[in-house]
Parts: sequence; C-alpha cells; structure tokens
Amino acid sequence: MRIGIAGLGTVGSCVYAILSEKGDDIEKRSGRRCTVSKVITRTRSKYAKLGIPSDLIAEDFEDLIINSDIVVETIGGTEAARKLVRQSLELNRTVVTANKMLISEFGNDFSDSSPIKSLFFEAAVGGGIPIISLLEDYLIFHGIKRIRGILNGTTNFILSEMQKGMGYQEALRLAQERGYAEADPSSDVKGLDAAYKLSVLTGIKTGIFPGIATIETKGIEDIDKLDIEKAADEGRKIKLIGTIDFEKERASVRPQELERDDPLWSVDGVENAIEVETDLSGKFILRGEGAGAQPTATAIISDILRASRYAEKQSNSVVIMKFGGTSVDTPEKIRDVAKRVQRKVQSGVKPVLVVSAMGVETDTLYELAGEISSKPNGREMDMLLATGEQKSIALVAMAIQELGMKSISLSANQARIQTDSNFSNARIVSIDADLVSRHISNGYVPVVAGFQGSTYTGEITTLGRGGSDLTAVVLAKALGSQLCEIYKDVDGVYSADPRIVEDARPIKEISWEEMIELSKQGAQVLQSRASEFARKYDIKVLVKNAHTNARGTLIWRGSKVEQPIVRAVTSDQDIVKVVLQEVPDRPGIAARVLKTLTEQNVNIDMIIQSMRSGDFNTMAFTVQASDLAKLKQDILKSRSEAREITIERAIAKISIVGVNLTATPAIAATLFETLANEGINIDMISASNSRISVVIDSKKVRLAVNAIHSAFSLEEIE
Ligand code: ADP
Ligand code: ASP
Ligand code: MG
Repeated sequence: MRIGIAGLGTVGSCVYAILSEKGDDIEKRSGRRCTVSKVITRTRSKYAKLGIPSDLIAEDFEDLIINSDIVVETIGGTEAARKLVRQSLELNRTVVTANKMLISEFGNDFSDSSPIKSLFFEAAVGGGIPIISLLEDYLIFHGIKRIRGILNGTTNFILSEMQKGMGYQEALRLAQERGYAEADPSSDVKGLDAAYKLSVLTGIKTGIFPGIATIETKGIEDIDKLDIEKAADEGRKIKLIGTIDFEKERASVRPQELERDDPLWSVDGVENAIEVETDLSGKFILRGEGAGAQPTATAIISDILRASRYAEKQSNSVVIMKFGGTSVDTPEKIRDVAKRVQRKVQSGVKPVLVVSAMGVETDTLYELAGEISSKPNGREMDMLLATGEQKSIALVAMAIQELGMKSISLSANQARIQTDSNFSNARIVSIDADLVSRHISNGYVPVVAGFQGSTYTGEITTLGRGGSDLTAVVLAKALGSQLCEIYKDVDGVYSADPRIVEDARPIKEISWEEMIELSKQGAQVLQSRASEFARKYDIKVLVKNAHTNARGTLIWRGSKVEQPIVRAVTSDQDIVKVVLQEVPDRPGIAARVLKTLTEQNVNIDMIIQSMRSGDFNTMAFTVQASDLAKLKQDILKSRSEAREITIERAIAKISIVGVNLTATPAIAATLFETLANEGINIDMISASNSRISVVIDSKKVRLAVNAIHSAFSLEEIE
C-alpha cells in the first residue's frame, strides 16, 4: 500500500515516523506493507527537518493523490483539507483523516456512492480510544441507544485541576504550559471540540452528520471555584459531558455534576472516556488518552490497516504503465524503463506494461513495405508492423528480468486482445484479462505488446497509428485498474508542441473532451481513440516523462470550469485542401459531393463554398493527407460537375483548444487579430465550443503557433 501524507505537523510527522521506523513490524503483524510514497506540507522547511527524501515530496495535492493508494489528511482546517479529501475520493482513493471539524461539518458531502468504504476517521473522535472501530465493527449489529462521555482532554484537565483548588484562569494557563491547550483555547473551552465529536459519532450511526449547529453546546468558561466547591460539598464532581440520545434524537455538550458511582467519575486529567449503551449488551466503556500526537497517530495507522483491506480489493495497486517508442528506442532507455518498473514494484504497485515499437521502427517498416509494393496488402502490412512491438516487449521483459524480477512478454494474441479483421485500423471487440491477471498473481510483470490485435481466427491486426495508447487504456479497463500511466519523452501534455514553442508548459490536468480535441487537432501525445475510450469508461490517464520525476498531466473528468479557458494551441500539417472549381450553383450538388466522399470512406474536416461568379461556385474542403489516396478524383469531378479539381498541399490547420471558447467572441477575435498582426492570411475557419481552427499557409506554422501561444499567455499557466 502506498501511503500519501498531507500535513507534517505533530500528528502527520508522527505517522511518517511510525510508518518509516516500524514498517517491517507492521508488515509482519498485518501481512501488509505500507510505505510512504509521497508527503506534502505547507512549510517547506519541514522536509529537511524531518529528513524526507526529495522524491517523496509531492508537488501538489494531485501529485500526492495519484501516487498513493491511501491519502492521510492531517492538515486540519476545512478549506484545503476539504479540497484534498474530495479530490482523493473522486480519484477513487481511500482517505484517512483526523479532522473532526471537516467530518462533522462536511462529512455529508463525502458520502460516496462507491460500494467500497473509502473514508476513515477514527482519529477524529477518540484519539487513542478506538470508539469508531467499536461502533462500526464489533457493535455493528447492535442498536445503539446512547453515547455519553468525556470527549475533551483539555477541559477535563482544567476541571480536574480546579477540583484540586486552582482557579479557572490558573488551570487554563497550566494546561497551555503542558501543551494540553492551544494558545487560543476557545474551541475546547466553549465545548465546540466535543460537539464536533458528537456530530461525527451521530454520523457513524445514522449516516448523516448533523453538524454542531444542531447540538446544544455549553462550555466551561463560566464555571468558577465556587461552583466546584459547592458540588464537592454535596459529594459531586463537575465534568464536561457530551451525550447523544438516539432514542430521543437529542445531543448536547454541557457541564454536569456527576455522582460518585458514575463510571465517568474517576476519569481525571487529560483522559477521555466514552460509554456506549446498546440494546443487546448494555453498557460498554472505553477509556484512555484522547489526544496527543502518539495516540492520534496510532488511530491513523490502525485506520490505514483497516482501509488497506478495502483498498486492496479495489485493485488500485494494478497500474498500467505504457511506454511509447521514444521511451524505449535504445538499450539504455530500456534499462531505464526496467529501473522505473522496479521502483514501482518496491512501492507496492503491481505494474502491467504496454510497450510500443522502438523509436521510429513503425515508420521504418512502412518505408520498407513501400519499397516492395506501392499498395501493400493489408494483412501482410499488419503482419510486418506487428513485429516492431514483438521485438520491444521481449527486450523490455529481459531488462526487467536482469534486475531480478519475474517478467513475461505477451503478444496481443497471448494477452487475448481480440479485434475485428479491419487490417491497419482494427477495432477491439473483446479482451480476456484472466491470463494477464494470473501472471500478476504469480508475481510476474506482464509486458504486453501495444498496437497489435488478433482476430478470432488468429490473424494479426493493428489498431492504427499511436494504437499502443488504446491497448493501454483498454487493458486498464479490463483489469479494473484505476490509473493508466502513459510514459513519453516529454513532461506531459503541453500547451503547445514543445518542439515548436520553446516556452510551452505542461498542463496539470485536462478533461477527456479537451484531450480528444487536442489529439484530433494534431498533438501526438495520446491517440484520440484512446482518449475516447478512457472517457467512456472513466479511466484516468496520467501522462508522464519516462526519464524524470515530473508530476505529469492528469486526464480525467476534469474540474468544472465555466469561464472560457484556452488550454493549448496545436498544428496539423498532415492535411490537404481539395478545391472543386466552378461547380454549378444548383441545389443538390453539395449533397452529391458529400455522398461521394462517404462512399469512398474519405473523412472531411472543414468545408466552404464561396466566390460565387455567374452560375458557378467554388467548393473546398480539407482531408487528412493519408486519405487522399482513397479519393477517386475522376468520380468526384463528374458527380459534382466541377470544371476542375485542384489539390493544395502547402496548408496547415492551427487550432486553439479549451473550454467554452465560443461563449465570448473575444477569444476568436484575439486569435484572428494575432494572425493579422503577423501578416498571416486565414484561408478557412471553423469553430466549436471546445476549439477554433484556422487553415493557413504551411510555411507560417511556427510563427503562428508561437504568436498565438503568447497572445493567450499560455507560457504562464501554472
Ligand atoms: P510516443 O513515442 O511516446 O508515443 P509520440 O512520438 O507519439 O510519443 O509523441 C511525443 C511527442 O509529441 C513529443 O515529443 C512532443 O514533441 C509531441 N507533441 C506534440 N504536441 C504536444 C503537446 N501538446 N504536448 C506534448 N507533446 C506534444
Ligand atoms: N508503434 C505504433 C506507431 O508508431 C504504435 C504506437 O507507437 O503507439 O504508431
Ligand atoms: Mg504515440
């Protein structure tokens, strides 16, 4: 289990210390290895003080969440903590928190629909007293009638000292000196702290956290020496008692006079005690240290162990790691990949690798085929292309074995990835993950060939360029894995192709929709079919650098944004413009043109009809350059009655991609103005809510992309 710790105050650093020092012991007793995988805290100087290795320091919450199975929240407060917990749950992580205020006031927001318990907060109530485990596990089938107790050590200490003769102020000062009370003690002495705990306990029983506004609360500030003495004369002690009466649906925190035979009578000093009354077995009493770093950390560790039983079932630990061609193009890089895999295995993850052909191998194979045949047979082409991945998986498996781990390479056929027989662009029809799962259970790191498929008759197919990405997300789905990591030679998805724009920046998170647009508009990064599949099945994708520890880009549902945001600018030079000169200006002609293109399986992108002269129009549309071969120009010419068809190749499509781009015309205006200022002519335009594209002269691509990137200040994104 990978544990991420947020907050390194007294509690957080104690959890860190226990997990680091007693890791072996915990493993021996529980059978579970729990390793700290990331930590984050606001005061950066803490890292050096606690001797935390730099690769454990998370860049931000997402970095922490993504690299952990269990997120431990000890930052306190409700602002940042709430965001962290919500996001962790959204990303299917298990959360352990000690934050009573958060659970009491916002616990209802976190009630997740997942059938697996994912939020644990033992430490929020009893510190070292395992009251929540008692209620949730041991007493789960009991009807809880009443809970009553001394829930706040600070006030109990003050009252105990007053019992011995001190005044309130003096006792409070002593509590502060001993570290039992904070500089601002109001939450304790006003009874709020105890009220939060009652709200949390109520939530455990009823499923709804009522919040402290519903709890009648009175603190100990008004109690003076006289009250204490008067009670003592009558043989009583004053204590701050929290009570929930589930039958009467009432909860309160207030000072009460206890009789000598009350089981809470003898609970003095910083001790806490809770009495639970149930229908089946009467009263239970738990008593012990209710606060302090050690007891609270102990409650957190016990939650981690409890949580790990659930988290394991969630197969969070299976992570797909896909390495693109650029990450495995030399033996050194392959060895590098093996080392990264080793670190992953050591952190408790069970990786399944998907690997592309080395470097430009696929291109080389295409060229090779081109030298033999101008129209290679589809089946033979896939037979040839699939060798690229067969070679790389064997080498990667060997490199992993060299490091002393068990690994096995699997072709698509062996990994049971079945496709239809549409050679060169096959569709995956089914995937039987049993065999891969068995290898994982037997301790192997499976290395699966990307890009390939196999038909039910055993024919070898391929999934289209960039198809290894698709293999990766499909495997993630089939194995029930929550995360698919795509490793590349860059730090993530950038605001522009870093080869074109020098100061392009990696984007931290992006939605599937935006990624699909980016891929379609020319950013290689992730195959668009893979993004579409990931969106459909809720697979989170993390694009990372194979050779550094940069945090990477998270592709997922995305955070909700309303204002227009331009995320990235892309260019696509693999397009051509087909112009139908002098088409008769008659209804029905355009429909005929499109029908012809559909028959020929040619996809068009932008389309315009213009320059009307006499009874004629000019019609133009753009197609992918690779589709041009499919276009039967003579048929199109006769059906459209065009005088002539010309093809323009020196064009490129530039697009800005983002959210709500057409909500205001200002964005398009900025785009056009920027191009005008650079003297770049716009040939065609198309717009949707998530992108605006223009066609320009291909010689101007670099100039245009750089100018647009800076016009939208994309180099400044965080
Ligand atoms: P892989 O071999 O991992 O599949 P690709 O060759 O498919 O890698 O794509 C990686 C390249 O994509 C990067 O080196 C980068 O130059 C280019 N690229 C284009 N647009 C972007 C973008 N917006 N963000 C990141 N990389 C981009
Ligand atoms: N090797 C294949 C290609 O170059 C598949 C991939 O890399 O994803 O397109
Ligand atoms: Mg690729």
